[in-house]
Amino acid sequence: MLIAYNNLQQLFHPYQYTRKALQKYRRTMKFFCPQCLEPVQLKIGSYNIPHFAHLTQNQCSQLFAEGESKLHLQGKIQLFEWLKKLGHKVALEPFLKELSQRPDLLVTIANNNFALEFQCSSIAHNKWHQRTIGYEKNNIQAIWLFQTPQNKDAINGIRKIRIPPLQQHAFMTTTTGLPYLMTYNSKTADFIYWTNLLHVHGHTFIGKVQKISMDKQRFPFYLPNSITQEEFRQYWQLYKRACQHYVYRRLLHSKKGVQDSFLRSCYEMNLSITTMPSYIGIPVKEGAAITLFASEWQTLLLHFSKRLDLEPYELGKNHIQDFLWQYQLEDTGQAVKAIQQYGQLLKDIEQNPGLLDICEQVYAHLFAIATIY
Ligand SMILES: [Zn+2]
Repeated sequence: MLIAYNNLQQLFHPYQYTRKALQKYRRTMKFFCPQCLEPVQLKIGSYNIPHFAHLTQNQCSQLFAEGESKLHLQGKIQLFEWLKKLGHKVALEPFLKELSQRPDLLVTIANNNFALEFQCSSIAHNKWHQRTIGYEKNNIQAIWLFQTPQNKDAINGIRKIRIPPLQQHAFMTTTTGLPYLMTYNSKTADFIYWTNLLHVHGHTFIGKVQKISMDKQRFPFYLPNSITQEEFRQYWQLYKRACQHYVYRRLLHSKKGVQDSFLRSCYEMNLSITTMPSYIGIPVKEGAAITLFASEWQTLLLHFSKRLDLEPYELGKNHIQDFLWQYQLEDTGQAVKAIQQYGQLLKDIEQNPGLLDICEQVYAHLFAIATIY
């Protein structure tokens, strides 16, 4: 924690003083937690940012993350100073009594409140959920900023990105297109956007990585643009390559042989696994709702439809639910939607041969752009 009351009942910000001055204050002042009002200890050290910690473990010290890393404390101070410099009304670690919560930062613009949480360590999903709900109930918009990972996922460009499950809950959306996520790098004071996130499989996405330095950023944060059709060609290539890799791996590792429903479907439909037709393995908007790789569930669906002597777009909701049940896939509204979207895409492709290539049709579908036939 970066602030505490001193014995004069003033809020004390250690980061505004030198270590030498802090050593003097530590001898002459007492400090108290702004939330539980218990005495706290000023920790100066030589590595970490000077901060406070409860003297004894209590409920408050568990509620408020103690043992915050240097990256976390440093990032909070940077964001606080930056928001002040932009002229916003901002509070550092304010205690919100009615919620019993202390966001890292609370920004107020006109009548809008934003709780900014800068997250460096992993946080349990239920804790994250609880905090978000608490803010929402009190008309505070929660913004979760995660520390930028120190790997190639943070390098500008269009690439495959791995996103841990919790951060997927923090996805934000624009009015059109695909979700995005923003991280903050307190080592370099940069915001990294992962935009136009297209789900591939598991925790893997294809996205466009864009860096913006703190002095160019604004608050509320900039919203990302949709990628262009040209950029989507790169997505398409990465996506198709991932699908191909997946199919090869399946072929190599399948021990079930003819029992493997995917391989059997391919065989029965006379599909060559090494050269899958381009309409199998295409991304759809709600595709993340189905845990299988697109190539796999789309093959299974085509086979399922064929047995019913229907086209995929002719499948009713009951058929789709039968399909999900048969392949032990979770029957959610989103999964049903994903299958309907795929059916619709196949119909569009079939009815307009040669007008647009599949990549362009998928682009139009994902970014909700009306195509002219
Ligand atoms: Zn306390």
